Amino acid sequence: MENMSYEEKKQMVEDTIEKYSRYINPALARYYKFAQLDTVEWSSSGTLVYDIFGEPYLDCLGGFGVFTVGRNHPRVVKAVREQLERLPLSTRALFNKQQADLAERIASVTPGNLQYSFFCNSGTEAVEGAIKLARMYTGRKKLVSAFDGYHGKTMGSLSVSGKDAYKKPFEPCVPETFQVPFNDEKAMEKAVDENTAAVILEPVQGEGGINLAREGYLARVKKLCERSGALLILDEVQTGLGRTGKMFACEHSGVVPDIMTLAKGLGGGVLPLGAFVSTAQIWEVFDENPYIHSSTLGGNPLACVAGLATLSIIEEEGLCEHSAEKGRYLLEKLEKIQNAFPQLITAVRGLGLMIGTEFPDSDVASLLGMEMAQRKVLVAYTMDNRKVIRFEPPLTVSYQELDTILERFTDALGSVQSIVEEIGGEEIG
Ligand code: PLP
Repeated sequence: MENMSYEEKKQMVEDTIEKYSRYINPALARYYKFAQLDTVEWSSSGTLVYDIFGEPYLDCLGGFGVFTVGRNHPRVVKAVREQLERLPLSTRALFNKQQADLAERIASVTPGNLQYSFFCNSGTEAVEGAIKLARMYTGRKKLVSAFDGYHGKTMGSLSVSGKDAYKKPFEPCVPETFQVPFNDEKAMEKAVDENTAAVILEPVQGEGGINLAREGYLARVKKLCERSGALLILDEVQTGLGRTGKMFACEHSGVVPDIMTLAKGLGGGVLPLGAFVSTAQIWEVFDENPYIHSSTLGGNPLACVAGLATLSIIEEEGLCEHSAEKGRYLLEKLEKIQNAFPQLITAVRGLGLMIGTEFPDSDVASLLGMEMAQRKVLVAYTMDNRKVIRFEPPLTVSYQELDTILERFTDALGSVQSIVEEIGGEEIG
């Protein structure tokens, strides 16, 4: 590709966009073009993604939180390459060392008595498995979750998610799934009863707009679960593995879930990998039939070595500490920027390197996203709250890169402000 002329590269971009329109998703193709993201990604390293023209983009979206250890981390790539030559996929008939090693490793880093892991390929599969396990263990059906929660888009995970727009076209949802307002203990108390199999929550709602659990909330929910014999599932698909400044976001509250779900960053930004993790006691339900829940490709050796390398990198490079420190730095700077643009930014909130800036409406947020794309910084709104632009860079991001991102953000806000003033600022909000 390096030998391609500029014209040839341009043609390749046009062809790729055309193929998206014809064979993948025409609306998505229109959206990318509208958002000024009309180029083709080509290579990546650390916080940077290069397009086909060699133009570097600072990645502040991090693949919705996938690139925890940065892109193409050499240790993950090396581990995967070596495994690729030897045994990429499992026989599913013989014992697999890579999966066993990863399960042991996860047991050693997860809090409390979480011990057993089931491996899959994505966050939504991890959630499906977690809710099936809860129903099987408790013999109950009811599942309680939160409005604005996001757990995936397959039928089970969608049913416990909290945004009607994604659910309505597919109704009926899985029966006996109920949502209550996040951080509302009274509503949760009313909802959780002797028929409840599980409560599923994110410690920080990601796609709902970076909403933090209020102090004491998760502990209270855990108590309610214990009182009624329900299980607490914490979905750490986005918050896990250092994203919020601790290995798992539940550690901020000291609450140990009965089941935890993981994905996104677990595959080191190189391979898809998800898991649900639980205790020896709960796992006993798999004794009778070990195939009651299974996945052909989940937990394949390639993904598992990526997971093992990722956990080592997080620990050895101190990425939880990086996330906490750099997250504080970024949050403080963003708060200062908010003070300079009080009409445009209505809130800044977050934990570690999972930070959201809220705008008066989704149009302003989209405009900002476009202005950032023009300045070669990738950001995006949170899926269920389009007023919020997220900052989720790799945890390996440098202070220098953060400063560049902040400079470009300030500059982009200046442009957005001018546009808003031009079209009549009084309409905003
Ligand atoms: N759970 C949470 C908290 C998520 O943020 C996501 C994705 O954003 C999912 C589950 C679904 O993960 P996936 O897209 O890998 O299916």
